[in-house]
Amino acid sequence: MSAHSSVVTSQDADRHDGQPDFAVLGGGLCGRLLAWRLAGAGHRVALYERGDAAGSGAAAWVAAAMLAPLAEAASAELLITELGAASLDAWPALLAELPEPVYFQRNGTLVVWHHADRAEASLFERRVRANAPAALIEGGFLALRGAQVDEAEPALSGRFQQGLLLPREGQLDNRQVLSALAAGLAERGVTTYWNTSVDDRALPRARITIDCRGLGAKPVLPALRGIRGEVARIHAPGIGLTRPVRLLHPRYPLYIAPKEHDVYVIGATEIEGEDMSPVSVRSALELLSAAFSVHPSFGEARILELNSQCRPTLPDHRPAITWDGAATLSVNGLYRHGYMIVPEVSACAARLAAALLEGRITDTDAFAEWRANERWAPMLHLRGEASPPPHRKSPWGIGGSNEECERSMPRAEA
Ligand SMILES: Cc1cc2nc3c(=O)[nH]c(=O)nc-3n(C[C@H](O)[C@H](O)[C@H](O)COP(=O)(O)OP(=O)(O)OC[C@H]3O[C@@H](n4cnc5c(N)ncnc54)[C@H](O)[C@@H]3O)c2cc1C
Repeated sequence: MSAHSSVVTSQDADRHDGQPDFAVLGGGLCGRLLAWRLAGAGHRVALYERGDAAGSGAAAWVAAAMLAPLAEAASAELLITELGAASLDAWPALLAELPEPVYFQRNGTLVVWHHADRAEASLFERRVRANAPAALIEGGFLALRGAQVDEAEPALSGRFQQGLLLPREGQLDNRQVLSALAAGLAERGVTTYWNTSVDDRALPRARITIDCRGLGAKPVLPALRGIRGEVARIHAPGIGLTRPVRLLHPRYPLYIAPKEHDVYVIGATEIEGEDMSPVSVRSALELLSAAFSVHPSFGEARILELNSQCRPTLPDHRPAITWDGAATLSVNGLYRHGYMIVPEVSACAARLAAALLEGRITDTDAFAEWRANERWAPMLHLRGEASPPPHRKSPWGIGGSNEECERSMPRAEA
């Protein structure tokens, strides 16, 4: 057993007067939600964010915020699908507690393809069926033909012979979530330091520090890398898509996510590298042409914004909650699934944070025991440890990860 004297226990509380219980570094998606949760549990929380209160410095600002665990199963392993399915169920209750309304839709995803690309459809279907739990597929993955496609999405009437409807998937408005969370932080008394960059050599004082800086945590997480994504936001009145539409294509897979007031987010490229420069002409052409091929009326849309950001990604493409063995946690690697999985990731991080604060975890043995009882044990790490436990058998009867399958997948979209 190895003791870590720097873990602060609840008995120490009065020796830490003036310090918040938690300093959360990074107020993008994960940091904002986690700080709000911790404050809701009665803790004193301070949040430090390099960018503004709107969240415009975060990957979360650019994201399409699709909540599509089954569609993502075409390129993600079981852990991500399960985190996504559980999180999708959790979003409505979370949003109901926020002080501002957030557009949330659970009207499914429609997957379509042009006839020439039909081979992509069978590949997509095989991958989803291989990777996702049977219980999610049952009733959640419907093959449509002809009039059924038209009926599902009248705006695309006559345009596609076949499609797949994933009726349980969802989406939300990313910028409304960020704004509502900022209001929620104020409401719950979180001390917020917007436009404040945290320097690793001078961390703010707190009993426990939680690093949610996304790609900004690279100085302390050298394995982290950015994967560039580019999106277009357009205004296209009169088309009236009722749910996100994914177009399968061998070179330009894309989604068109309808938000409120005839705004559509079209995305997204997936390019290795931490290039934050503006959207390239090639990417803009690909995104907009593909949308035009789904519905020619997109040709008359107005471009509101072309934007790029980088998805914070770890080598195994999994999220990781890492304890340093003392008083620091890091939550990172949400990659292209941040909105899809953050309710469960932040809830798990909040449980670990509370266990540390209350002195229920003071050493590596206690951490291992605590983790063994956690549903999401595979994303819980002790810094320096060789590997976390394998993914437990799924409650749906499928266990283990599908990394081999994942490695062979083309990556695009979210
Ligand atoms: C183009 C694109 C499309 C996407 N689409 C989807 C989608 O459809 N569905 C989905 O689920 N996910 C999607 N994502 C992924 C999602 O946006 C990310 O997984 C998520 O934003 C990661 O959350 P995070 O809080 O870890 O990082 P971020 O949201 O990037 O937040 C990190 C925050 O830390 C701050 N920070 C950095 N350094 C410092 C510092 N030194 N001091 C203080 N603050 C600091 C940053 O300013 C930032 O606000 C998409 C991402 C992109 C780029």
